[in-house]
Amino acid sequence: MNKILTGMLLTATTLWAHAIWAQPTFDGEKALAHIVSQVSFGPREPDNPAAKQQTISYIEQTLAPLTNRLTIQRFDYKGLSGANLWASIKGTSSTSSVRIMLGAHWDTRPQADRDHSPALRDRPIAGANDGASGVAALLELARVFAISPPPVTLDLVFFDLEDMGHIDDLPYSIGAREFVAKNPFYRPSAGIILDMVCAKTLSIPREQYSQSQAGELMDTIWSIAKQQNSTVFKDSPGIRIIDDHLPFLMAGIKVVDLIHYPFPDHWHTSADTVDKCSSDSLQQVGDVVQQFIASYKP
Ligand SMILES: [Zn+2]
Repeated sequence: MNKILTGMLLTATTLWAHAIWAQPTFDGEKALAHIVSQVSFGPREPDNPAAKQQTISYIEQTLAPLTNRLTIQRFDYKGLSGANLWASIKGTSSTSSVRIMLGAHWDTRPQADRDHSPALRDRPIAGANDGASGVAALLELARVFAISPPPVTLDLVFFDLEDMGHIDDLPYSIGAREFVAKNPFYRPSAGIILDMVCAKTLSIPREQYSQSQAGELMDTIWSIAKQQNSTVFKDSPGIRIIDDHLPFLMAGIKVVDLIHYPFPDHWHTSADTVDKCSSDSLQQVGDVVQQFIASYKP
């Protein structure tokens, strides 16, 4: 009897200590659920303003209880209306004036121009991977850091109109360019863009603009990935990719791009759907980014 009672007390004490001390961890399943939600709104592209508004509301409502501040920066570009969202989680230590940015594009490509079927090439993509996955990872990281705030201040930025490139002669990364231009005093110490991070076949080599202009930051990320035995991070050179990190690098801000390359078969096709995503891939990326932020030394 006594033994049983002692055992129960010990279990209760352990559970209590666990509840107090356990660090929250990134949950790939929760991130995957954020992808399912976004895809359910429909393509998040200029001809679908209802889906765009639903996505903005979803990001706002998810982040409202988790972040200290959330603003929407609207802009116009060649007849298109865009909206970047910016939320922050304040750091807790003497280094809280140091800021790190995590970014992802929340829009999706209005044309599946790489589809095998010509009939589908002018239709919008679902963007489970290309669009929703980066946003999903950021929303899940916000949950983790709301419970256990990071030492440095974390900015979560969601860019609109990334994926219009080569459509009507438009460029890529319209939203990220607007963000850099409209916020000249925003100069984070480091930043990471997450783009296409959910595929079952995920492979993230060292994107070359990031490597040549922010090599130390890349080394830190890849050493964390190595410690964690990550299989999705590949310690090999990728190619140069035009993405939302470029406007920052051009302004001298060290922001790197974690992006799937070689691009998956479903890239810019009607097959970019939730079934291509894996919670394990999201988990591996989330774990590395979480540790990068939690252990960041300015
Ligand atoms: Zn794309």
